[in-house]
Formats: sequence, C-alpha cells, structure tokens
Amino acid sequence: MLRQKNILKKLDLLYPHVACALDFDGVFQLLVATILSAQCTDKRVNMVTPMLFAKFGTVEKMAGARVSEIENIIRSTGFYHNKAKNILGAARMIVKKFDGEVPGTMEEILTLPGVARKTANVVLSVGFGIQEGIAVDTHVMRLAQRLGLSREKTPEKIEKDLIKIVTRKKWGEFSLQLIQHGRLVCAARSPQCETCKLKLLCPSAGLFKKKVSQKRKTVRSSNTLGVKLHAKKR
Ligand code: SF4
Repeated sequence: MLRQKNILKKLDLLYPHVACALDFDGVFQLLVATILSAQCTDKRVNMVTPMLFAKFGTVEKMAGARVSEIENIIRSTGFYHNKAKNILGAARMIVKKFDGEVPGTMEEILTLPGVARKTANVVLSVGFGIQEGIAVDTHVMRLAQRLGLSREKTPEKIEKDLIKIVTRKKWGEFSLQLIQHGRLVCAARSPQCETCKLKLLCPSAGLFKKKVSQKRKTVRSSNTLGVKLHAKKR
C-alpha cells in the first residue's frame, strides 16, 4: 500500500501538468478524436483531424456527411471503415436523441456507436471534468501491470483495481500520467529501467533486460548446438 502511494506521489512530481494530447475544440470533437485514437497514436490523429474538423467540425455537419467522405480523410488512422461508421452513427444519434449535445453521463455516452468505457472515461473526464472511472488504454494497462498496481489482464478489471488505489478527483490525471510515463520511459518493447525515476518502487525494474539477455543466451546456445549437429553430419 505504501509502495503504491509512493508511486502516485512520484508520478505527481514527475508529471505535475498533464493534459490530453489530442487536438480538439469542444466535446464533440474530443469524442471524434478519441474514437479515432483507438489502435492509433495521438500524433497521427492530430494529423487528420484538422482536415476532418475543417469540413465536419460540428455534430450537425458530421451527421450530414457521407461515410465515404469521412473514410477518405481518416484512412491513415487504421480501421477506418469502422471508425467512419461509428463517428457518423454517433453524430446522428447525438442529433436525434440528445438535441445535438454529447451526453454527459456514463450510461448515455455508452449508447453511442464506437464508444466503449475507455472513450467514455476520456470524454467525461477531459470534456466534462466528470470522474466516472479511469481510462485504461494500452499504456495504462502495461504500466499498471509492470508497476504491480494490478495483476489483471483486461482493461475493465485493471480499471477496478486502479480505482481502489487512486482518489476519485485524480482519476483523469493519473491515467494521463501513466500514459506520459509509458510514452517517455516505459515503452512496450524497450523500457528505460536504468534511468526510470520509478525503478526503486517498480517490481519489474530490470526484468525486461534479463529476459532479453536470457533469450539471447538461448538463441546462442541453440546456434551452437545447430553448428555441432551440422558438424557431426559432415
Ligand atoms: S522501472 Fe522499468 S518497468 Fe518499471 S516503470 Fe520504470 S521503465 Fe517501466
């Protein structure tokens, strides 16, 4: 428990001013950008949204777009058929069912096409300042596991563990802090444990390096074996 508290304190010191990295103007644009960010980097999303929002920057304009028009603009973000369909569906539903305003409750926002819990948490926290949960994306998931904050494997279960550790008013900020640390220091394939400011609190510190050198040893010894066998045959 003390270790967990110290991790939170350290994150506050390391990342005191975190903000959502997506570019948007208003809650509807935030929703669209967050849908686009699934399986895609925020940087890439920020490259396509200026053109998308120049054409369809309001919910009414988006609701009147053709799916192919959206697809053409967002193609480079991946999964663009589904994303375009969901963005269009969400815009039309917002116009029809919610008087043109993105709904501000978890229950309602989850009824929009393409909106799962992670997107809903981002929109509620960043767009409305409402802390309903902790957005668990791929960075948050990896960091929570490596830092020993959760042993779970699914975003939903990890979120439940994190909610118990972090005070409610900090849920949004905490998610952004883990994302930032994941991007800058604890990358999926090459965590920089040696220089990581959390290494004394992290049960995974150095483990990645050990695994890599173990793999190398295994490859080396199997190579040697292969050479020996080959030599015997000859
Ligand atoms: S010590 Fe290594 S595994 Fe732990 S948070 Fe830092 S970079 Fe990630």
